[in-house]
Amino acid sequence: MERIKMTTPIVEMDGDEMTRVLWKMIKEKLILPFVDLKTEYYDLGLLSRNETEDRVTVDAANAALKYGVAVKCATITPNRQRMEEYPQLTKMWRSPNGTIRSIMGGTVFREPICAPFLQPAVRKWTKPITIARHAYGDIYSAVDFKSEEPGECKLVFTTERGSSREWLVKKTDGPAVFLGQHNLTESIQNFAKACFMYAWDTKQSLKLAAKDTILKNYDTEFIEVFENEYAKNWKERFENSGIRFGYTLIDSAAAALMNSDGGYVLALKNYDGDVLSDLVSAAFGSIAMMTSVLVNPEGKYEYEAAHGTVTDHYYRYLKGEKPATNPTATIFAWTGALRKRGELDKNYDLMSFAEKLERATLQVLADGYVSEDLIPALEPDFEYRVTSAEEIINKIAVKL
Ligand code: NAP
Ligand code: MG
Repeated sequence: MERIKMTTPIVEMDGDEMTRVLWKMIKEKLILPFVDLKTEYYDLGLLSRNETEDRVTVDAANAALKYGVAVKCATITPNRQRMEEYPQLTKMWRSPNGTIRSIMGGTVFREPICAPFLQPAVRKWTKPITIARHAYGDIYSAVDFKSEEPGECKLVFTTERGSSREWLVKKTDGPAVFLGQHNLTESIQNFAKACFMYAWDTKQSLKLAAKDTILKNYDTEFIEVFENEYAKNWKERFENSGIRFGYTLIDSAAAALMNSDGGYVLALKNYDGDVLSDLVSAAFGSIAMMTSVLVNPEGKYEYEAAHGTVTDHYYRYLKGEKPATNPTATIFAWTGALRKRGELDKNYDLMSFAEKLERATLQVLADGYVSEDLIPALEPDFEYRVTSAEEIINKIAVKL
């Protein structure tokens, strides 16, 4: 069979443990037989990061900026326990995702993979709900303190030219806690750009939620930035495609979330996004049915699974077992990258292959060959057999 040709490489970031095992199987059995795959390969496995003093992560992120599309395997972020497990580590290397995000910039979109045999905790959710979290500022880089003594807390802003303004936060007559937080207009603008880009790419409506009735300056800034970006760059395109942009108060957005059937992107401030992204992913069933895309404001993309390296499955694998790990999110990271590469290069065969691989994957699960993690999320009368990752991948290859 003639394999699909590619013109531009995808940046491939390999990783660790069970997901590294799946990575190789997915490439060998599901992609290489059909695609004349062009990748620029970076080994982000922990030992390779250690050997290169983490240079490889920086190089991979820069390559992602150069080529515009990357796919990443889950990686170990070392902690104290990992330092004991891998005595050769010379340093507790930073989280690769953190390094990549700080080089590429941008917003992470977490999107569940929906299928008819999966039953989300909210029965009405039949389409994915994507949470876009503004991962900068607010309480995550705030100053907070406690005072046991009564006193006065003031907020003072001094401009570079030396003039200053002052607000009384609170005069207290007993112990109290205080908080000062900020955000940057430029960061909000980049967040807005990435949100509109993602909504447009996936042809879903975009909803922004905040609390401007309470934070009349702070949260109103988010609304104004989004509205300006919409009017300037997206309004016409959105209206012509039947998708919409709108603002809602965060509490009514949360209520609407429970009453909708999904199929939209919800842009949230940092803390709201932290809470609701975990809530939405838990309610959809399994972390292994959740993909994650980093979109930067210049339109560069990095695709990955939302889960980690599945350490316990890896140790069972090393003992000769064939664990029933779910390969779906890792496969969808690849199809996301292949589809985007195809779109940018006008390589329609590649786009259509990505579609077929996704369909084959969901068909194998729908046929009842499922991994362990899916059991609690299955429709009650669904007939299934717990199947190893390897066998699931083999069956997908046959379907393809
Ligand atoms: P994890 O690897 O996501 O695994 C947590 C648990 O979720 C697993 O023990 C497993 O449950 C279940 N699970 C996750 N993915 C699964 C899959 N594909 N199929 C079946 N079950 C799955 O998270 P973790 O244990 O907190 O972290 C392990 C390592 O991954 C850490 O070193 C961490 O630094 C790294 N990590 C990397 C990323 C990333 O690169 N983006 C993200 C998160 C964590 P059962 O044990 O019950 O089967
Ligand atoms: Mg969280």
